[in-house]
Amino acid sequence: MVTETKTADVSFDSLLKIFTVPEGPDSTLTQIEASLSQNLNQFLREHIVAEEKPLREIEKDFSSAVIPETASFVSDHTEHLLNTVVSHSVHTSAPTFIGHMTSALPYFLMPLSKIMIALNQNLVKIETSKAFTPLERQVLGMLHRLIYRQDDAFYQRWMHSANHSLGAFCSGGTIANITALWVARNNALRAQGSFKGVEKEGLFKAMKHYGYEGLAILVSERGHYSLKKAADVLGIGQEGLVPVKTDANNRLCPKALDETIRSLKTRCIKPFAVVGVAGTTETGNVDPLVEIAHICQEHDCHFHVDAAWGGATLMSNRYRHLLSGIELADSVTIDAHKQLYLPMGAGMVLFKEPDAMKCIEHHAQYILRKGSKDLGSHTLEGSRSGMAMLLYAAMHIISRPGYELLINQSIEKAQYFASLITQQPDFELISEPELCLLTYRYVPKSIQAALARAQGEQKAHLNEMLNDLTQFIQKRQRETGRSFVSRTRLNPANYDHHHTIVFRVVLANPLTSEEILQAILLEQREIAKQVPTLLDRLETFAAQVK
Ligand SMILES: *Cc1c(COP(=O)(O)O)cnc(C)c1O
Repeated sequence: MVTETKTADVSFDSLLKIFTVPEGPDSTLTQIEASLSQNLNQFLREHIVAEEKPLREIEKDFSSAVIPETASFVSDHTEHLLNTVVSHSVHTSAPTFIGHMTSALPYFLMPLSKIMIALNQNLVKIETSKAFTPLERQVLGMLHRLIYRQDDAFYQRWMHSANHSLGAFCSGGTIANITALWVARNNALRAQGSFKGVEKEGLFKAMKHYGYEGLAILVSERGHYSLKKAADVLGIGQEGLVPVKTDANNRLCPKALDETIRSLKTRCIKPFAVVGVAGTTETGNVDPLVEIAHICQEHDCHFHVDAAWGGATLMSNRYRHLLSGIELADSVTIDAHKQLYLPMGAGMVLFKEPDAMKCIEHHAQYILRKGSKDLGSHTLEGSRSGMAMLLYAAMHIISRPGYELLINQSIEKAQYFASLITQQPDFELISEPELCLLTYRYVPKSIQAALARAQGEQKAHLNEMLNDLTQFIQKRQRETGRSFVSRTRLNPANYDHHHTIVFRVVLANPLTSEEILQAILLEQREIAKQVPTLLDRLETFAAQVK
């Protein structure tokens, strides 16, 4: 802890110093850098989920709205960051942190990420990025080929073509989804006769020209909330995102999709895009992509696949068939910061047709001139970092077969965990893993029997009490800080579509062992015993269920 705050002098000379590359191994900054690395490594080794200090307390460290009038020394401030921020962060790379899609990171990315910050290339235009631009185009080409498997001639022709683009690198799945639907919207409301296109004249005139009463995007009930944002910013409105019924396995029902499209059309509402999910956020299921593609073809809809999380499965020759039909999509979202093990801020959208993005092309006089290879002419974002370089590096260092091993072990570990849960007399698997995500809950044996007998009201009441129990266990486990699973709310068919709170597990960290998974169940069972009153109430009620 720093007791007495030293202040640095604020002078132009000292400011010049902070912009100067440090010289020699003994410079203060070089030393700070080394000790910081050491400290971070220690944090990553020791911490799991630090939760000793309540958020309310932590907020006190961040309570002043005054920009400091005095300058701090870098060394002091580093100390301050270690005490206030690092020590109260969440160790998302811990092998026992299996609750979210935020990925564990391969360690080589820490030193390599320095290249990105040090060079500070701006990918919006060639003038500020040079080699990073063809690099990013190549990365997009690699991911395009992973999905669409075109021949070499295709990539020779289009990958570096100034007037085409195989996709866009962006900050994540949300921007990728917005970009895909932006393209879909503009293509659906393109220029025709005297109408100059929605991008020029706006939605109001586009609707009048085409004689539509509204626009719709269709997605299964399990679609990600980013699609709602997309519908909102594209002027379609959140109600224009129309949910389609799912089956017992959380997959979109093609028949319901077809019917919904037909009924929208009779009301003069144009369903211009359908989103198939390849790996839903809550249950990890994959929609029937081939069937959706055929329906899209029949109704002239843009077919987008949201594979933000599941897309990396294509790296696995053993499991890529789980996503079959993805190659029929007009566009695909993949997040590299999920199952491609990159740090946050790495999303992509890929388009089947190299000229699909023409309808969102933007030019400006001082940059993004027509015919330039500037990436910014096809991206929603402006200034952008060289993040693609880290994906480029990871794909070389890990390689496709390496990624396959990572994907395979995740999927197989989820299968192991599912069977482990099924073997327990007092746990219930709620959704089977299709990829490496599953949901389950703790249900004492006697309650399971009652639940099987119960009908209507009684079944609903038992489920309510179990929801309280699941919620308690999840919170307590998180607070204890040894391990973390998340929780979500589903409406399973076998529980009359009642709200059912479940534990949600995402298995991606290769360091998560079978022993860890066993220990997590043991811990949850132990925590359940800490609420005897709730268990008693459950037992008493269960005894009344005849
Ligand atoms: C994570 C996710 C998103 C959103 O991606 P961000 O990178 O968080 O913006 C969208 N769709 C699905 C299916 C996801 O899993």
